[in-house]
Amino acid sequence: MLRVSEKRQCPVVWGRMLICAVLWLGSALWLRADEPYAPSKDYDLQHSKVALRFELEHRKVIGDVTHTVSPLREGVEKISFDSVGLQIQSVRVNRSEAKFSTTDKKLIVNLPKAGKIGEKYEIEIKYEGKPTKGLYFILPDKDYPNIPKQVWTQGESEDTRYYLPTYDYPNDRLTTETILTVPADWLTVSNGKLISTTDAGGGMKTWTWRESLPSSTYLFTVVAGELVEVRDTWHNMPVDYYAPKDRGDRLTANYSRTPAMIELFSKKLGVDYPWEKYAQSMVDDFVAGGMENSSATTNTASSLRNPKLVPEYPTDEDGLISHELGHQWFGDLVTTKDWGNIWLNEGFATFMETIWTEAHYGKDEADSDRWTAARNWFQQRNLYAKPIVRHDFDDSSEFDGNAYTKGGWVLYMLRHQLGEDSFYAGLKHYLEVNRGKNVVTADLIKAIEEATHTNVDQFFDQWVYGAGAPKFEVSYSYDAEKKQVAMTVKQTQKVDGRVGLFRVPVDVEITNATGPKLYPVGVSKAEETFTFPSESAPQMVLFDKGTQILKSMEFKKDKKELLYQLKNAGEMADRADAAVGLGKLKGDDEAANGLGEALQSDKSRGVRDATAESLGELNSPAAAKRLLSSLGEVKEPELRAAIVQALGSFKENAEISAKLEAIAQDDPSYRARAAALGAIGRMKTPKAYEILTAAVNGDSPDGFLRNAALRGLGPLGDDKAVPLLRGWAAPGKETESRQAAISSLARVQKDNKEITNQIVGYLPEPHFRVKLASIFALGSRGDASAIPALEALLKSDDLSIEMAPMIKTQIERLKNPGKGGLGGPMEMGMGEEAPEAGAKGGEDQRLSHLEQLVEEMNERLKAIEGRLPPAPKR
Ligand SMILES: [Zn+2]
Repeated sequence: MLRVSEKRQCPVVWGRMLICAVLWLGSALWLRADEPYAPSKDYDLQHSKVALRFELEHRKVIGDVTHTVSPLREGVEKISFDSVGLQIQSVRVNRSEAKFSTTDKKLIVNLPKAGKIGEKYEIEIKYEGKPTKGLYFILPDKDYPNIPKQVWTQGESEDTRYYLPTYDYPNDRLTTETILTVPADWLTVSNGKLISTTDAGGGMKTWTWRESLPSSTYLFTVVAGELVEVRDTWHNMPVDYYAPKDRGDRLTANYSRTPAMIELFSKKLGVDYPWEKYAQSMVDDFVAGGMENSSATTNTASSLRNPKLVPEYPTDEDGLISHELGHQWFGDLVTTKDWGNIWLNEGFATFMETIWTEAHYGKDEADSDRWTAARNWFQQRNLYAKPIVRHDFDDSSEFDGNAYTKGGWVLYMLRHQLGEDSFYAGLKHYLEVNRGKNVVTADLIKAIEEATHTNVDQFFDQWVYGAGAPKFEVSYSYDAEKKQVAMTVKQTQKVDGRVGLFRVPVDVEITNATGPKLYPVGVSKAEETFTFPSESAPQMVLFDKGTQILKSMEFKKDKKELLYQLKNAGEMADRADAAVGLGKLKGDDEAANGLGEALQSDKSRGVRDATAESLGELNSPAAAKRLLSSLGEVKEPELRAAIVQALGSFKENAEISAKLEAIAQDDPSYRARAAALGAIGRMKTPKAYEILTAAVNGDSPDGFLRNAALRGLGPLGDDKAVPLLRGWAAPGKETESRQAAISSLARVQKDNKEITNQIVGYLPEPHFRVKLASIFALGSRGDASAIPALEALLKSDDLSIEMAPMIKTQIERLKNPGKGGLGGPMEMGMGEEAPEAGAKGGEDQRLSHLEQLVEEMNERLKAIEGRLPPAPKR
């Protein structure tokens, strides 16, 4: 799944991160957790013929499914299917009526006689149900009369059972035939090839799809509705994109790089794209960012960015598209056996995003993503003590930042340490040997060793079965007499539980008057000293050149060396590290000037981003001057937004306030204007109210600036904005505007019960994101009169597994206002705004809330792969 796609962790991606956080706050799952271990099996489900019809007005599914099963044990008398909330009307076994019973989780079918290994049984189940999850109806209502009708499914992790009685765990694979009878003007998408469409009479049409390669039930999919299609190909194979019928013109702008990605991945992996077609269907209100159903991915419709905004987000949907495509090999062709090994799906999909970025946007971009991902992984301190492969995730999610970020990083390190050729030889062998099978991590280790004759046991022991990552403290001295650099390396992580001392190969680069020289060393001890020859005192010493190891590092360097490194280091990551180091030299003008120069001239976007952030941290007049002057030079929208963001940290500076007000009103970049609208709200600049309200009433593609302005009105906290915010929160307005307005309402006139009541009124709405914004706004407002409504919502039966813990957290906030609690994502806006503290209190409290929030949001972020529309990346 994805969530929400990558670069998801970039610091300017607050919006997306927060959204994800919301989904994960208070994550003590008191609802069902996924089964960590695969169940033992009595039978093999080989094929399912699934015929579905829908009664839209009742949100009902009517199913007729025939499963072909074969006993795996002698004497099996009963076949048990996962089935939740479905009414089973009849069951026939080999065309004869059969006895069956149900529990709240199972359908148990009696075989006519004790089964034998190898026999086949056709079990036909007729049923109907109103699924509370797994299958979703998106339908017009009085407030949104024009929304295209859509029905879609989301199986992962264990939700297929809510609309289809089946074997619902990854450790089984089956072929499928999907027969969908829908209104004649709809399109449908399911796994595999389209076999036929036939007139079903009464204005209905029947579509038959057949998937001839077996995959697991969580990868089964149905999408149907008022959709439009754009057709493309890859080597004559159909590559199709679907959108709700009013947004077909957005498909090409956002999705046309798909065939190039299929080509790249097929070549790199040495295994051609394995399925008979590739469809991507973008649907409204999708509960994830994307889902890699075999041959037929479903993505959130918010990945269909307005073509007028696409040029400002040139790479934006690539993370999502390449992630889900990567899963077609890793996850779909070769599938984790259990949720405890989910990194075999998600780590690989995350790694494949890097492969696309590297090939299409260049090494610096890929390095920049990786550099950012490492920083964010370390910020999520709850991940550190847990190994990647684990089966004890009852109290958290297996879809965490270890499965995604660290998993992707581990594969990157493995490639670096094995070398490109050996690494891909290993992956090719892994895919070929395990094609169409379920795997655990040992299968990957074995395949790599068979293909490369390199023993990788120690690598996997420390990085995958072990926890954490090295924390280095590095220092050096130069002995002019001996002409020698002595470097002392300490591993400072606490050796505890699954965290040990790391044994890693590290490249040390020493640059002196004669140029740079590389020295590979092996680090393995708690403390050790390495010596290197150097004819003259070094100008720059790099430990782990280019950041090839997931690590944190304290390497004290003086200003001169940092300035030299920022200017001269060959690798993006080393220059970015220097930028971070210089950002800590508060009030230093030389640091500001060095950063300012790099902001304008470095060849890497990632380094320039880092220098803007560091100039914001320096917060000195010289830094302000550099940021302001760079606005005249820098044209790239993402960098302009980063500069505006950095300027937003200078309080009470009239020149900066005026500049940001001007940008908010008029700048060639929508992204920069949106960032400025957020900044002037937070800074409460003199004309902020006037500019923000004008922007709310103005026009921009998809209300992009309006939404930024609505979000800015919250931190501005001017009660005059209340009627405007209440108006934009109301049903009938665009969902994203409503979210922004509701979040800002959390922060104004906190004693006004009418506002609380208005937000309470939105809780029952079917629109996932409005519901979410309302839950958090009520928690933030601190008005305890909302508690009964939240408690009532908690009891309703249609909550997704994520939503219930969030509601519970907000109720706790309201019951214990003194404890502060976490601010909701909506308060922080979904655009490129810096986070604002949700809770009152001192700076320390604010920071600790924020830290906790980031930690949790990152975890969930990866977990859900973006259940909400992707926020702007970078
Ligand atoms: Zn994924």
